[in-house]
Amino acid sequence: MAETLLVEPDSAFINDVMASGGADLKKCFQCATCTSVCDLSEDGLTFPRRVMIAAQWGLKDKALADPGIWLCHNCGDCTVNCPRGAKPSNIMGVLRKEAIKAFSFPKIAGTMVSEAKYLAVLFLLPILIFGTIAAIELRHPLVRPYIYAEVFPASILEPLFYAVSALAVLGFAVGVTRFVRAMRAAGVEGRILPALAPTLVEIITHRRFMKCTANKDRYLGHLLTLCGFVGLAITGTSVGIGTMLDLMHTPLPFLSGWKLFANLSAGVVLVGTVLLIGDRMKSPEKWNDTTYFDGFFIVVLAGVVATGILSELLRVAQSAGLMYSVYFIHLVLIFSLFLYAPYSKFAHFVYRTVAMAAARDAQLKAGAVTTQSVNA
Ligand code: SF4
Ligand code: SF4
Repeated sequence: MAETLLVEPDSAFINDVMASGGADLKKCFQCATCTSVCDLSEDGLTFPRRVMIAAQWGLKDKALADPGIWLCHNCGDCTVNCPRGAKPSNIMGVLRKEAIKAFSFPKIAGTMVSEAKYLAVLFLLPILIFGTIAAIELRHPLVRPYIYAEVFPASILEPLFYAVSALAVLGFAVGVTRFVRAMRAAGVEGRILPALAPTLVEIITHRRFMKCTANKDRYLGHLLTLCGFVGLAITGTSVGIGTMLDLMHTPLPFLSGWKLFANLSAGVVLVGTVLLIGDRMKSPEKWNDTTYFDGFFIVVLAGVVATGILSELLRVAQSAGLMYSVYFIHLVLIFSLFLYAPYSKFAHFVYRTVAMAAARDAQLKAGAVTTQSVNA
């Protein structure tokens, strides 16, 4: 006797998707045009049509556990070709946002970072922390008036940022564990660790981005932002470990190798983020309810590098009042970037890596594609 499948739609999930930028979800009539144009659907796979139907039917667990939503690189080709105007690329973006919210730990953090109404609350915490530090330190006369550590001592900043980093790692660890469990429950069996290295190479080289036609303008901005960000992460981690082991002392000289590399990386991030913001600004028709969520991370990141560069210049110019004010904003933005990373668009990088690795390994195991076609 044929197995009976009981479909239990989650109508709250359908409403959430439609209210978060997926208003056209129900226009989809399953023609599969999107599948025929999506380069992720080679070899008889059914993406993104299968995700469209899961979302339409309110199958929340199925839709959010599908690695395809993370493999999608938002090229927009499906949306351009959809005969019903269902905007499947927008729906994939909304589902990524919903997945980050659903897997986040604590849940409230996922909700607060994804909704514009909580923006002031997000910044209030670091403003209070750094405002209190500055108020305490400024009670004493500054011995070296053009040194940031006089107002924001390393003895306070270092443990504070180690604690914030640890919270971010915890948020990612729990979120990714929940996501992997959801994938396993949905039948995705691919292993992650064995496929990690080739997956990271694919992400860094932006191989799939080059296949985009509708949204090809994002390629350069995305590539520069990612490469510069990796450069800053390498510098920040190395200098952090170096100072902890007493091998380095901040501020580093302007002409030190690490300083030059950090400045180069910051410049690359700044150009990349400006290109991405410019691309979004010049196409208001692409704005939807995920624009705030997408923009939060990009704008905070652009703000971090812009205020970082400006802080250095103001220190050289010995403009005490202005340099401490800009550095204050810089610290507030770095704190926000780190603490909210597991719930912002930055989390894309982590979830996408895990999903791509699992999908790559599952495809290889199933023999659905050859090693050559995975690497093509
Ligand atoms: S999203 Fe559009 S192209 Fe894809 S199946 Fe639905 S109607 Fe067809
Ligand atoms: S946006 Fe591009 S990658 Fe994503 S589902 Fe549509 S066609 Fe595929």
